Amino acid sequence: MTTVIDGKQVAASVIDAVKSASETLTNETGVKTGLAVVIVGNDPASHAYVGAKGRMAKECGFTSVQHTLPEDTTQEELAALVQTLNADEALHGLLVQLPLPKHLNSEPIIQSILPEKDVDGLHVVNAGKLATGDLDGGLVSCTPAGAMVFVKRTHGEDLSGLNAVVIGRSNLFGKPMGQLLLAANATVTIAHSRTKDLAAVCRGADILVAAVGRPEMVKVDWVKPGATVIDVGINRIAAPEKGEGKSRLVGDVAFEEAAKVAGVITPVPGGVGPMTIAMLMANTVIAAYRKAGRKAPKF
Ligand code: NAP
Repeated sequence: MTTVIDGKQVAASVIDAVKSASETLTNETGVKTGLAVVIVGNDPASHAYVGAKGRMAKECGFTSVQHTLPEDTTQEELAALVQTLNADEALHGLLVQLPLPKHLNSEPIIQSILPEKDVDGLHVVNAGKLATGDLDGGLVSCTPAGAMVFVKRTHGEDLSGLNAVVIGRSNLFGKPMGQLLLAANATVTIAHSRTKDLAAVCRGADILVAAVGRPEMVKVDWVKPGATVIDVGINRIAAPEKGEGKSRLVGDVAFEEAAKVAGVITPVPGGVGPMTIAMLMANTVIAAYRKAGRKAPKF
């Protein structure tokens, strides 16, 4: 029997834990967790994401601040806002929604966020802490942190003896995911576009994580029977069966066929997707606990 992970349900359980952690912090210290989100320009998808983050932050009992800057904002104006938010003691988490409009350079902006407020986990200090195995000192990129919740709920905290393959080596996902698996004692392979015989590499995986951005690339014969398959990809493809011009979302894994052999698998949508925002809330309350000098909860 294959288990299909319900990402919405797992995300809701993380949100419940975040709510209660934030309530405890307020009751014991008077500190209310605060999250600031900065968005530049008019991209509708980015506005939808930012709106969802703000609503979720409020639901968690946080102070939620949104700064919406016009499309023609200069690099200096955006940098100045980040400095102001860095200095605001009431804000524990700060993120700048990506992508930024083309005339802006995102890297110096991200690196100017205080690492202890970098709830997206993109600052080199946080990437470096993860790479050196300091899982309790930094903040971990939200999507891999969310995927890791699935892995740990399936296999426990210790992955000793298990082979994990991550397809994709991005700084946002592939690399931090590989490091999280390694820190949990899995034997990790990070595959990418230059990997030879990817199918054979994947067939050796007890835990197979796909983060490529290629619709339904991972086929049934890439999956070891009984493996845990985590599909991070989000791809929109044409769906003429739903009507002319219609589309649907699929992952990087051919779900229907892979589900026949996998032990555990995540669907798209409704798998990893809902976890990203939940882990953003988790990172924010972790940042607030640390700022208050309290031991941060684990999620
Ligand atoms: P990315 O930066 O574009 O990285 C894609 C990776 O896939 C690269 O390392 C690339 O290899 C590798 N790749 C490309 N074609 C390949 C092939 N034919 N065989 C093997 N590897 C191949 O993407 P990303 O930001 O990591 O995101 C990956 C996917 O996850 C996307 O679909 C994205 O939408 C999704 N995603 C979802 C969430 C979420 O659920 N919230 C969050 C983040 C990302 P090279 O390095 O060699 O080019």
